Amino acid sequence: MTVRVRFAPSPTGTLHVGSARTALFNWLFARHHQGEFLLRIEDTDSVRSREEFLEEILDSLRWLGLNWDGEPTFQSKRLKVYREAAEGLLSRGLARLDGKAILFPVTPGQVVQFEDLVHGTNQVNTLEIKDQVLIKSDGTPAYNFACVVDDSEFKITHVIRGDDHLSNTPKQLLLYRALQRTPPHFVHIPLILGTDRSRLSKRHGATNLNEYRRIGYLPEAIVNFLALLGWSPGGDREILSVQDLVREFDLSRVGKTGAVFDLAKLSWMNSQYLKQAPLETWLPLIQQALQARGWWNDASDPAWVGKVIELYKGRVETLEDFCRQAQGLFTEEFPFDPEAVQLRLKEPQAGAHLEAFADRLERLPLWDSTSIEGACRALAEELKIKAADLIHPTRVAVTGRSVGPSLFHLLGIAGKERTLKRLRQAAERLC
Ligand code: GLU
Repeated sequence: MTVRVRFAPSPTGTLHVGSARTALFNWLFARHHQGEFLLRIEDTDSVRSREEFLEEILDSLRWLGLNWDGEPTFQSKRLKVYREAAEGLLSRGLARLDGKAILFPVTPGQVVQFEDLVHGTNQVNTLEIKDQVLIKSDGTPAYNFACVVDDSEFKITHVIRGDDHLSNTPKQLLLYRALQRTPPHFVHIPLILGTDRSRLSKRHGATNLNEYRRIGYLPEAIVNFLALLGWSPGGDREILSVQDLVREFDLSRVGKTGAVFDLAKLSWMNSQYLKQAPLETWLPLIQQALQARGWWNDASDPAWVGKVIELYKGRVETLEDFCRQAQGLFTEEFPFDPEAVQLRLKEPQAGAHLEAFADRLERLPLWDSTSIEGACRALAEELKIKAADLIHPTRVAVTGRSVGPSLFHLLGIAGKERTLKRLRQAAERLC
């Protein structure tokens, strides 16, 4: 049996991280079994469905690398199919008209039982299920009905979706029975929770997947992180490439209980991926980020930007974080961290030291990290201070920050003219 799954977003909003996780689990399951991953657009709500949302959802899926098989199906183009299926039930006396709507009466007192591959046996008495709308009076199908018609017609073998749909499953099973079609396997994956274990909401961080792209998370990191929301490879491995995930993904290791979305963990993971990413990956992303901030112009030199990337890539969590940390290298308008200023520039001698260091650096015939370091150590010795007493205030004067990469390399890349200018500006303000 070929595994065939589907992801069925409604284009009434952008891609929620929870939906992205659902798409990913379906995709991993399909790829693991060399099956098919179909896309079905549940767009029968013509008021709330919008083309822009659809485009953004497809774009997010592409960005994550979740390629689908064949063309997407649009429910809005299949209204006739749903109507015919409902009319079939009407003609068999299993449905009735209610004005323009078609309803499916549910006989109370029956038990619907099914095996969920995550939750085990589920039993519901039909007393708890109201009569179901099949076709609404505006001619559009109700979700449960269209879902059953499509899942059976497209021979979906496993329905993998969020467990907020668990209560829909018995209703759908009644419809499979009435339509005399074979139901798929059901797999309800756990809800995503925030770190306080309440349902994930904006309070816990962005819920729109695209926002993570904008902030500068890499798709590989997001895929790795989302895969571990409710699934685990066993052991304590956390960094898994997409190939590892496809090889190891297995429904038997999907948990029943809520999966916690820990932004700090995602950021850590992203930093690991950023550290490993080659310059070819970094450069276009950084160029885009710099352009968006107006920090890139015709004179910008990719080779030089590459040096800045090498300097910072091991110490940032996101591309946004990179731009924040390295801001002083890209623009003259960068903020001074007030704490850093207080700590490093308010020392009585700071201004005089910076001035002396600037004079010393000005005389350097060669501008490289070794020469800069030599000048710094020699001056510190002459002034009978520690090299750190020059290094710390210099870092704040040049970058506005108290922490950062190796100062001598940083100054080497910042360039002589800029370094001297910033040291003297700071010294002037202090003296
Ligand atoms: N459009 C539904 C949703 O986004 C699909 C549910 C399903 O997978 O059956 O929740």
